[in-house]
Amino acid sequence: MTGVERIFNFSAGPAILPPTVLEQVQRDLVALPGVGLSILEISHRSSVFESILAQAEADLRALANVTADHSVLFLQGGASLQFAMLPLNLLVSGATADYIDSGSWSDKAAEDARKVGTVNIAASTKAGGYSHLPRESELKLTPGAAYVHMTSNNTIEGTQYRRLPEVGDVPLVSDASSDILSRPIDVARHGLIYAGAQKNLGPAGLTVVIIRADLLERSAARKATLPAMLSYAVHAQNVSLYNTPPTFAVYVLGLVMTWLLARGGLDAVAAVNERKAAKLYAEIDRTGFYRGTAQKECRSLMNVTFRLPTGQMENVFLKEATAAGFDGLKGHRSVGGMRASIYNAFPEAGVEALVSFMRDFESKHG
Ligand code: PMP
Repeated sequence: MTGVERIFNFSAGPAILPPTVLEQVQRDLVALPGVGLSILEISHRSSVFESILAQAEADLRALANVTADHSVLFLQGGASLQFAMLPLNLLVSGATADYIDSGSWSDKAAEDARKVGTVNIAASTKAGGYSHLPRESELKLTPGAAYVHMTSNNTIEGTQYRRLPEVGDVPLVSDASSDILSRPIDVARHGLIYAGAQKNLGPAGLTVVIIRADLLERSAARKATLPAMLSYAVHAQNVSLYNTPPTFAVYVLGLVMTWLLARGGLDAVAAVNERKAAKLYAEIDRTGFYRGTAQKECRSLMNVTFRLPTGQMENVFLKEATAAGFDGLKGHRSVGGMRASIYNAFPEAGVEALVSFMRDFESKHG
């Protein structure tokens, strides 16, 4: 970006956006070309915004291969509101929802669902500090459950599913907040996918929900008793325009979709993500000075968590890293250590720069 110094942003979210997207936002912020008004000022009922919304949805559908079986909703309230909306809409009385407890965010999702209905923890790796994912053979699923909830990538602990658990005919629901569109996703195997936008999709304030038609029907059956803003059916019937949506965030998400398409789609993006993570994990594993906190077979390609020999050395590492232009490497406050979040928009050169910094740091302090 001309005249602007950018540092390497390893933040877990809100996270890095593609610089070309930021440049386009900057260029078109005062007036959208041909419109003469800013995206920040136009009505969500205008044809301009309607086409921005429709294009963002079409591009998201193209990228993730979302067919007509699923609706795409652009909502607010973050992934955290989905912790409540999901059971409010889909956990009918007398039924049980299964939750796979693989990290702090799944734990929070289950906690909210318990306030609404009956929850069965199908498996939990909490006792082991969530350093690995529950194995499929350990899942104690409820026959005829309302749904099975999983977290595809555990942002705090740095673990990620390689393949989806087999749940039979029960709808699979995935919190994909921290890995959506980082690799191909089998939408057809999901009843519902939700994600806060602020990691891989765009700015904070926007939440994407992809919901299958039969679950929308289940939601519609509860319309009379649910406040409108909490109803998937209401949002779907109004094409995400029941009330004023976060127009700016939808616009930026649309630009990110265009960027992903131009990069060659999710297969191409996944290959780069694999390579970035492999470089970083290789450095972590090189000598034993750094220690990855997630079990190897469960490691996340998005959030790379690691420790140094002592807490004191971690503080020095963070201080020196910040001085060297690496921001956001401090692990989540609940677990400590380091976390390098390397979402889609994080450049490979930034990973290489961190690896080289880590080598230098080890030779100085190791
Ligand atoms: N789920 C996961 C997997 C997350 O990483 C986060 C945020 N870091 C949340 C849920 C909560 O998201 P929000 O802040 O959008 O409510």
